[in-house]
Amino acid sequence: MSEVQGNPLNGLLARVPAVERMMSSPAVQLLLAEYGRTQVLSAVRAALDTLRCELQSAALPGETRAASSPTAVSSAAACDEAHIAGQVAILLAQRAQNHLRTVFNLTGTVLHTNLGRALLPDEAVSAVVEALTRPANLEFDLATGSRGDRDDLIDDLICELTGAEAATVVNNNAAAVLLTLSTLAAKKDVIVSRGELVEIGGAFRIPDIMSRAGARLREVGTTNRTHLKDYEEAIGPRTALLMKVHCSNYVISGFTKSVELDQLAPLAQRHGLPVAVDLGSGTLVDLTQWGLPREPTVRETIVAGADLVTFSGDKLLGGPQAGLIVGRAELIRKIKKHPLKRALRVGKLTLAALEPVLRLYQAPEFLRERLTTLRLLTRPAAEMRAFAERALPVLQRALGESFTLSAEPMFSQIGSDALPVEQLPSYGLVVRHASGKRSGRALMTLEKGLRGLPRPVIGRIADDALRLDLRCLEAADEAAFLAQCEVLQA
Ligand SMILES: *Cc1c(COP(=O)(O)O)cnc(C)c1O
Repeated sequence: MSEVQGNPLNGLLARVPAVERMMSSPAVQLLLAEYGRTQVLSAVRAALDTLRCELQSAALPGETRAASSPTAVSSAAACDEAHIAGQVAILLAQRAQNHLRTVFNLTGTVLHTNLGRALLPDEAVSAVVEALTRPANLEFDLATGSRGDRDDLIDDLICELTGAEAATVVNNNAAAVLLTLSTLAAKKDVIVSRGELVEIGGAFRIPDIMSRAGARLREVGTTNRTHLKDYEEAIGPRTALLMKVHCSNYVISGFTKSVELDQLAPLAQRHGLPVAVDLGSGTLVDLTQWGLPREPTVRETIVAGADLVTFSGDKLLGGPQAGLIVGRAELIRKIKKHPLKRALRVGKLTLAALEPVLRLYQAPEFLRERLTTLRLLTRPAAEMRAFAERALPVLQRALGESFTLSAEPMFSQIGSDALPVEQLPSYGLVVRHASGKRSGRALMTLEKGLRGLPRPVIGRIADDALRLDLRCLEAADEAAFLAQCEVLQA
């Protein structure tokens, strides 16, 4: 081979096939049928560029290297048409991957806001598929053949489950609060206890929403103590609304006092003012029957005297992202007429998913099994433990000797700012660095590696260990998880 005597790099570069040649190769022709010419051409160019760069950098340290050296041989193989076509296929598959991807949530947080909160039951999934692929009576009254209201599809069901007179649904609970305040309190005062001026993760702050809604916040009481007379003294001619906000993500303990709704509601009534309650998570059932922490239900809140209650669809309720507003019919009517309602309304996907989820609540005896969120929250630790023990040897093999693995009890959290202090006994895998030294960096590298897997594994690092809580890994996904551990090893 003459090029060996000259510059071996030039010889190798000359072997890199031309773009046109690659485009007509049989393997690339197959890719054309799937991805189309524009994308394939771009991927071929990119693969060839990468190849040239690799050949150049491989040649750099020893330009006198003989053609028979291992590098030269593998470089020659890299110029093989079939090999390049394989690279092109990989590149195209990578580029075609959606940015929204399925992950394993092993964080131990069931309603993880950054990982999409509630997972929906099959009934909801198939309803969404139907609604997406076929026309539906979204705003069409089948009885009269005239235009309908999308809230009509679902408001009777919501009222049945909450005891409210009327209901409407918007994009999320932040929107529900914004719309409520905009409708009832624009240019007026809203009285809120200082102990309830919460910030919910992701920049939802009651004072900010209040000003965006054009309402004036009238704070009463102190951070730790608010009395009924504080509310009473603040009521004046400009008052439009008394509001209570559920302290979703923190607790005030010690020397505290807050005014319960059943005291506040009669005061509001005496002054002819409505009371709105932002319940945050707002569950529809008493969770203590399954050993979960107590949360006020929407029904109890209505019974205690709330005129309006707002809550999320994708927190404890276990449905799609949505904000539900329930309460007195005349107030809901006003809210629905506000122009912002049109801007904040939900799409058909949301309504399609929400209705079957709400229907599950009509058969509470099956709820634990059928409502995914509740099933995950109530999973017995023994189940997670059994899987932890099955997965341990597989993952240990994949991680090698640098890491030691154990199956250990741990605590999961509900998440989504619900019940922050309550923890659920769980079980999972704990990965520690074998040396103990420099383990922080090694664990971070491992954590990153797990995030980079085809189906990213999201755990959490705490106390010099990577913790993989198995609560949210149900039987249907176990095989996929184990198969991926083998990929990790390869
Ligand atoms: C979560 C929460 C919100 C925001 O609800 P989204 O559905 O996320 O918009 C508002 N208020 C309270 C009290 C919350 O807990």
